[in-house]
Amino acid sequence: MKPLKPKKCRVCKFEFIPKSSLQIACNMACAITYAQKKQAKKKDKAIKQQKRDFYANDKAFRAKAAQKAFNAFIRARDKGQPCISCQRHHNGQYHAGHFKTIGANPELRFEELNCHKQCAPCNNHLSGNIANYRPNLIEKIGLEKVEWLEGPHEANRYTAQDYKAIELHYKQKLKELESESTRVA
Ligand SMILES: [Zn+2]
Ligand SMILES: [Zn+2]
Repeated sequence: MKPLKPKKCRVCKFEFIPKSSLQIACNMACAITYAQKKQAKKKDKAIKQQKRDFYANDKAFRAKAAQKAFNAFIRARDKGQPCISCQRHHNGQYHAGHFKTIGANPELRFEELNCHKQCAPCNNHLSGNIANYRPNLIEKIGLEKVEWLEGPHEANRYTAQDYKAIELHYKQKLKELESESTRVA
């Protein structure tokens, strides 16, 4: 067997003659150091992944909480109004219905002009009943604003902190709205 060419130890960087092509450290001490470093790196990587997962989960959680607060505000704002799409004042559940959907226009998900009280049947079973939503929305906010909603928008990249701020903002707005309505009544 041909002797192997000298190579550089991965740890101490000195040259050595390896006994096999797999040997990467010059001696036992360096081999142990190398194994320990590798183990630490692996652990670091796992911790970093855990952190990433946590923040991703946290962001999704924050987005949901922000949307919940925003939607509650919309329902309270439109309390006395009928469903934006079918114009009925019926008993039953009401939602906050987006004119431009969150899926298609995520940048309008917290736009007050884009969201109005809507009955559950229109929201859940008629995909927002958009054909009837539009003329009633024009009646409510004017054609210019509806066309603005339909126009192009800059993308919005929300962070978990943004979502938290939006949630607090709409919780506060809801509180103000509720204290106003009790003062009037
Ligand atoms: Zn070495
Ligand atoms: Zn309806």
